[in-house]
Amino acid sequence: MLGQMMTQSLTIGSLIDHAARWHAQGEIISVETTGGTERTTWGQVGANARALASALRKRGLEPGARCGTIAWNNRRHLEIYFGVAGGGFVCHTINPRMGPEQMVYVINHAEDQVLFIDATFVPAAGKLAPALKHCKHIVLMGPRDEAAAEAVPGILFYDELLAEGDASEPWPDLDENAASSLCYTSGTTGDPKGVLYSHRSTVLHSIAGNQPDGINISAMDTVLPVVPMFHVNAWGVPYIAAGTGCKLVLPGPNLDGKSLVNLIDAAEVTLALGVPTIWMGLLGALKETGSKIPSMTRTVVGGSALPPSMIPKFAEYGVELIHAWGMTETSPLGTMNQLLASHRSLTPEAQAALRLGQGRPPYGVDLRIVDEAGAPLPHDGAAQGDLQIRGLWIVDTYFGKDTPALTDDGWFDTGDVATIDAEGFMIIRDRSKDIIKSGGEWISTVTLENIAIAHPGVANAAAIAAAHPKWDERPVLVVIKAGDVTEEELLASFKGEVESWQIPDRVIFVDELPIGSTGKVQKNKLREEYGQVLIAG
Ligand code: ADP
Repeated sequence: MLGQMMTQSLTIGSLIDHAARWHAQGEIISVETTGGTERTTWGQVGANARALASALRKRGLEPGARCGTIAWNNRRHLEIYFGVAGGGFVCHTINPRMGPEQMVYVINHAEDQVLFIDATFVPAAGKLAPALKHCKHIVLMGPRDEAAAEAVPGILFYDELLAEGDASEPWPDLDENAASSLCYTSGTTGDPKGVLYSHRSTVLHSIAGNQPDGINISAMDTVLPVVPMFHVNAWGVPYIAAGTGCKLVLPGPNLDGKSLVNLIDAAEVTLALGVPTIWMGLLGALKETGSKIPSMTRTVVGGSALPPSMIPKFAEYGVELIHAWGMTETSPLGTMNQLLASHRSLTPEAQAALRLGQGRPPYGVDLRIVDEAGAPLPHDGAAQGDLQIRGLWIVDTYFGKDTPALTDDGWFDTGDVATIDAEGFMIIRDRSKDIIKSGGEWISTVTLENIAIAHPGVANAAAIAAAHPKWDERPVLVVIKAGDVTEEELLASFKGEVESWQIPDRVIFVDELPIGSTGKVQKNKLREEYGQVLIAG
């Protein structure tokens, strides 16, 4: 027997409609690429999104056509998110930090027919244009600009394109399983792989990821996604924001600590989201500027491991850190770290220690860890294995591939090594390709880095496996100094923190660590450069 309730598709158009109808005056603050700050409302963003969908239809775009974006977090990018997906097309967000070859690869692989670009990327687009096989229109996200018209022949202007559309046209009826957006992994090794999200997966991710034990955004919040809109849908924040009608602050291109402090204070941001590197920059700027960021109550941190020293530093400003884990293939929210009622009686230090882990899965995703043969391991907080995930917003098949990216029994292998305890708290111990195997025992690079970063003389550190004649691999630490520190002093700080055989064999001081397009240290590059130092020396 079937239930007799209304059936409505879970679509992205319905999210922006909610915001435009019930939070019409809700504010969006947008730092523009060309300078200055713009204020608009959910009502206006909703109207512009519909006008954009209508204009693209009038220009002859077929349902499912991919539209690329190379853009920062700003108001027009937000309208493209909703207008393109709501209109039945697919919003392909492109990471501008990719090299030009990779960019051409993903744009052609996605068969992007339209490319929306911010002013920053006009010169790059001019160079890429001849190599783009399917692109019919390049659209500058702004008003008419004669210099751009000269630099990129045939370029269109977003504000003029909008004027071609009719904001009163309703969204097309869409199957909730239709594709809505596309994001490529960073492709550290091999070609980037595309993850094609659906309306349904996106809406479910927004609802379930925003529970009180998740990101927990309400209409009372002013939210600053520092995480870029070109990387995994800015962790779903634009969709969550539309579903809640919160005030949204889009930071544009300048993500240095000082710009962020100024923005947080000016817009009275209550919640910000970003990777640890961004928060390191912010903490530095807080010291410099003397701001106490009084409006901020919490920060969501993810993308790479949260350095333990960050929790007490933010606590000084009354800001709670919520640690989250995920990946492009998981939309991205896989786990979020909020405490349980049973932890209420713990000391603040014990609570902080628990919150260092990556957290628990929300309803909608399921986790397990397995051994090398694929057999499930116990959730006892001690057994360490390959982390696998399945659920309502997890990839099945990469874009353009014929076979699913899953194990025979339907799980996605994350490439992370983790433990899970009896209450579901998951801790990432390492990436399986980064972990160090010394004499048959595993050493976590994350653990070594956390100890190094806690040293006041260290600004940043990466631990890597270096080849060793006796132990196969031994840890080597690559360090950027923050002050005066010697190799001996730094290694002395490891004593008592880890087993003596886990202490690195060597410290190499450098001026810079190689950072990839998603802001993470590229350990494969470090291994290429320093992987033989213990043999040579
Ligand atoms: P890419 O794999 O393309 O660099 P992703 O953003 O998809 O980009 O990266 C996902 C990976 O980032 C995860 O598999 C994990 O290794 C790492 N990661 C994400 N969040 C965390 C976290 N909170 N702690 C530790 N590692 C994390």
